[in-house]
Amino acid sequence: QAKKEARGSYRLVSTIDSKDAQDRLVLGSALRDSLSKGLLNLHYQPQIEARTGQIYGVEALARWNHPTLGNIFPSRFIAVAEETGQIEAIGRWSLEEACRQIVAWERDGVHIPVVSVNLSAAHFHNRGLVPMIAALLDKYGLAPERLTVEITESVMMEESEETMNVLAAIRKLGVGLSMDDFGTGFSSLSRLTRLPLTEIKIDRSFIMNLEHDANAQAVTTAVIGIGNRLGMTVVTEGVETEAQYDLLESLHCDVLQGYLFARPMSATDLEAWARQPRLLMPAMTRKPDQGQ
Ligand code: C2E
Ligand code: MG
Ligand code: MG
Ligand code: MG
Repeated sequence: QAKKEARGSYRLVSTIDSKDAQDRLVLGSALRDSLSKGLLNLHYQPQIEARTGQIYGVEALARWNHPTLGNIFPSRFIAVAEETGQIEAIGRWSLEEACRQIVAWERDGVHIPVVSVNLSAAHFHNRGLVPMIAALLDKYGLAPERLTVEITESVMMEESEETMNVLAAIRKLGVGLSMDDFGTGFSSLSRLTRLPLTEIKIDRSFIMNLEHDANAQAVTTAVIGIGNRLGMTVVTEGVETEAQYDLLESLHCDVLQGYLFARPMSATDLEAWARQPRLLMPAMTRKPDQGQ
């Protein structure tokens, strides 16, 4: 009886394991193949300056449409990339692609002030990151302030000297440094003061609950306040409704990103979107301001 149970539970565990293993094996090698063939691409989501309704920048988000496996969500393939040692290759690729693209837009007469690129923790244990970014800026003739690097709280939490040195070196280059998904980790507000950040992105989970949850509103208000006080740009992600927009505007949030304004889109679509007269932007179609 006991033996049977043990076998049963073993089987359950092994099913879970093999699904993960399969993911790593099948997706991992498909990803390697796609990466080498240039089958990944970046989509771009506009970020809107709350005060003016003008474009502040774009976030570059990786997309993978495999010929037979279809569309695979970033949450899945980024995890696979991390587990199969490919995340640094993806980071190098997305940094280069984003730099190339912002310069290409400029050449087409579309000025996108800043492009933000997501990087994973692994990059920050590597001394190659900073020289690589410097070389890219040089190669594309891109001013450093037009590139921002987004990293999650977990990277920032590593108090290791190595990580802190890399963060400082990135700032020294003049590249922006953004703390992504803020509020989902365990860092304290006071920790913010000790990091060389230019930007904080408040996690979507807070914005989602903004209208109905006093706690989410309190946290959002506090983070906007301290961010502004520290001279950082505060960005909110996942803005989906006018009500959230109104609230965030009244809280003096600097930059808004979310489906209300635009979804992530291809470089071509982004270019067309950016060429539209600003009059089409929600901020400009809203009722005139009642004054400060
Ligand atoms: P993230 O950096 O927090 O990116 C924001 C995510 O929220 C994106 O999901 C975006 O499509 C989504 N989003 C934006 N506005 C809204 C909204 O109004 N409502 C909702 N429900 N969602 C919204 P996506 O593109 O699926 O990316 C998921 C995550 O995958 C990203 O979260 C980022 O952590 C990671 N990721 C994406 N591209 C890369 C990459 O090139 N490198 C690395 N390391 N990670 C990446
Ligand atoms: Mg991000
Ligand atoms: Mg985010
Ligand atoms: Mg997020």
